[in-house]
Amino acid sequence: MRKSIISVKDLVKSYGDFTAVKSISFEVYEGEIFGLLGPNGAGKSTTLEVIETLREKTSGTIIVDDMNLDDQPAAIKKIIGVQLQSSGFYPGLNLLELIHLFAGLYNKKVDPIELLKKVNLEDKARCKSKELSGGQRQRFSIATTLINQPKIIFLDEPTTGLDPQARRNLWDLIRDIRDSGTTVIITTHYMDEAEQLCDRIAIMDEGKIIKLDSPDRMIDELLESGFERPKEVKAANLEDVFIQLTGKDLRDE
Ligand code: ADP
Ligand code: MG
Repeated sequence: MRKSIISVKDLVKSYGDFTAVKSISFEVYEGEIFGLLGPNGAGKSTTLEVIETLREKTSGTIIVDDMNLDDQPAAIKKIIGVQLQSSGFYPGLNLLELIHLFAGLYNKKVDPIELLKKVNLEDKARCKSKELSGGQRQRFSIATTLINQPKIIFLDEPTTGLDPQARRNLWDLIRDIRDSGTTVIITTHYMDEAEQLCDRIAIMDEGKIIKLDSPDRMIDELLESGFERPKEVKAANLEDVFIQLTGKDLRDE
């Protein structure tokens, strides 16, 4: 039996008359990559922001690492890592200075170079964030979630807008973070990414969870129901061609 590190029960979130999250319940297990999928407006970010203590819920119970969100929001904040919008990266500071600044805010001691090594940006230590490519900036933003050595990190669409290599780079990084023991909750619009990366997935639509399982079991279930792809697909696709031509690791942006 796996230990639950986040337990959401009957969560409701309304904005005025509009109910964005309609009584959802789910568990996230310690040490997994948990994906939240669903079309725009499904309620993914709202759900994450409530768990992150950034938004008030309307009703429901949320337990994070055995702490009730209603009673111990400050203690929960200390054990989670939330991606900062890159707009929060003061333009005049370089990466080392930004890490020092954030560590100070968290009141934590960190070795900035070690942290930059973890996300493969040690060469960029003295660059400003605006001098980074999109993929590098996302990796830096993920590094900032790790500053307070959290048990859980939340990544809301971390790969949106990245090129295929940068996305794959980020997958490797996210797997490393999971393998070092941190639980990861991620949202994405890329199904290939969810299939590759997530141990389990919840699919949301119009404020409800309509399915929750591992990607593998979801696909098996669909096949057992008699589903067949309409056309025989080729054993490779255009993305494979692109990656093959441009190289995966050789050119890191
Ligand atoms: P997702 O992240 O799945 O795209 P969101 O959680 O951002 O969805 O939004 C869910 C719904 O709640 C959307 O219809 C959105 O317009 C609405 N919503 C989000 N934030 C607010 C807000 N601050 N005030 C009113 N409605 C909001
Ligand atoms: Mg969103």
